[in-house]
Amino acid sequence: MKKIVVAIDGFSSNGKSTMAKSLARAVGYIYIDSGAMYRAVTLYCIMHRLFDNDKNLDEGRLHNEINNIKIDFHLNSEGLPETYLNGENVEAKIRSMEVSGLVSRVSAIPFVRHAMVALQQEMGKAKGIVMDGRDIGTVVFPEAEMKVFVTADADIRAQRRYDELKSKGDTKTTYEEVLENLKARDHMDQTREEAPLRQADDALVLDNSHMTIDQQMQWLIDKFKQITTTDEQH
Ligand code: C5P
Repeated sequence: MKKIVVAIDGFSSNGKSTMAKSLARAVGYIYIDSGAMYRAVTLYCIMHRLFDNDKNLDEGRLHNEINNIKIDFHLNSEGLPETYLNGENVEAKIRSMEVSGLVSRVSAIPFVRHAMVALQQEMGKAKGIVMDGRDIGTVVFPEAEMKVFVTADADIRAQRRYDELKSKGDTKTTYEEVLENLKARDHMDQTREEAPLRQADDALVLDNSHMTIDQQMQWLIDKFKQITTTDEQH
């Protein structure tokens, strides 16, 4: 069967990574979490003290150092991809609230986006890939054969993210902090000048506010089958 590119975009914490990961596994495609790449750059900035105490970023230094930032993914023992920053497994560190609070600032910088987009395009050039993010269907792969735009109510997204943090042992973060963070990120992601979050004109829209994971997967796999079998006929 012909391999395609699947682009899954949408707001923060709406379960698109879970969906993208499961789809990739079900159809034998590679899964790339593009948000993890922006998170890894943000973590680099924190680790190398590119933020001052007031959280101002030294963009000049980041510009000089961007080519020293190597990001890749390796499968863990369960076959799930984990993010590496300059050879270090940073999968857990990039999910912290500190990184979540700063990532939209870093991802709005054009030279950061250009570097990440080039890497993402390279990763997807052989197709057979599911990538999730904010600009995958609009900027990274505008020719993707399948584009999905995922949305869900903000309070439902915050509750899911909050439950996830708790299940991973975070006892400090409150629900209100999670809600504030995701609203702030949605706003920054939608209003930035470079590659703002928006729905591609040819995207299929999925509002998963009231859907179970199984229902979302069924929806996704049905669409995938429709698209790959229609593509075969051409
Ligand atoms: O997907 P995730 O929530 O982990 O993404 C973290 C942040 O990375 C987003 O809030 C957004 O600022 C940025 N991002 C982006 N473009 C992408 C993926 C993520 O700007 N393709």
